[in-house]
Amino acid sequence: MRLPILIFLCVFGVFALALEDARYPGGVAIVPLSEFGKIAPIAFCDDRRLKIQKLPSGEWAAIVGVSIDAKPNANKYLSYWTIEGKSAIVPFKIGDKAYPIQRLTIDQSMEALDQATIDRVAKERGIIAAAIAEFSEDIGGDTRMRAPLIAPISSAFGLRRVINKTPRRPHSGTDLAAPKGTPIAAPSSGVVALEGSHFYCGNFVLLNHGEGLFTLYCHLDRSAVKTGQATKTGAIVGYVGATGRVTGAHLHWSAALNGAWFDPLLLVSRADLAKLTPKPQSPQKR
Ligand SMILES: [Zn+2]
Repeated sequence: MRLPILIFLCVFGVFALALEDARYPGGVAIVPLSEFGKIAPIAFCDDRRLKIQKLPSGEWAAIVGVSIDAKPNANKYLSYWTIEGKSAIVPFKIGDKAYPIQRLTIDQSMEALDQATIDRVAKERGIIAAAIAEFSEDIGGDTRMRAPLIAPISSAFGLRRVINKTPRRPHSGTDLAAPKGTPIAAPSSGVVALEGSHFYCGNFVLLNHGEGLFTLYCHLDRSAVKTGQATKTGAIVGYVGATGRVTGAHLHWSAALNGAWFDPLLLVSRADLAKLTPKPQSPQKR
């Protein structure tokens, strides 16, 4: 990376931090590095490069996405290097969070997928996993985001469903119950990493906000952007729909950092968060 870009990112980082430390599965750990130099250190955890930001104190911190599937109460560590050649290992601990559990009994035939569909789903999961594994240094997206739209939360992040006594994957996003056609605004600047149509997600847009931070928009009626397109904060990226595996129109909004899915609401400004109130109704599918 060229020096002017590095300096820009360093300065930018001071103002960008809005996340709070949330060290639990589905959260984001902010791990101070005891480094105060001008150039950001480079850090890794579980072989994934980490986003680095400067704290208001001037100290560099690694911003680590903690997967919703992470083992609770686990001891983790990250390693980092400075431009001066210093390296260190920093241990940190992941706690636990009690997400709601919902038990449902449904007709088996409603859930069964044929082999072709199972194969398709596996392939599509691989495509998304590969896309969110990218680390782009040259995209200066802000971690302090606005909500992509204002609507009641119809299904919270992390909800654990048990269908016919079989536990399913935890809900990897937040569902916002907006009607079909509602515009979806980019919550921060970025680049469209991918757009397309997948079995579960329906029509989707994946935004790359840089340094391993991505946001995903599912079940769109239609996308308004193309892969590779740069988007500014507030730009319309698509419209709410009911495509994919859903029971009604809503936006499934997900966020990933260093390849780990975490609660996108951790990124949202307090002002917007206050407008996203939970809606007492049966959750949407995803
Ligand atoms: Zn959802």
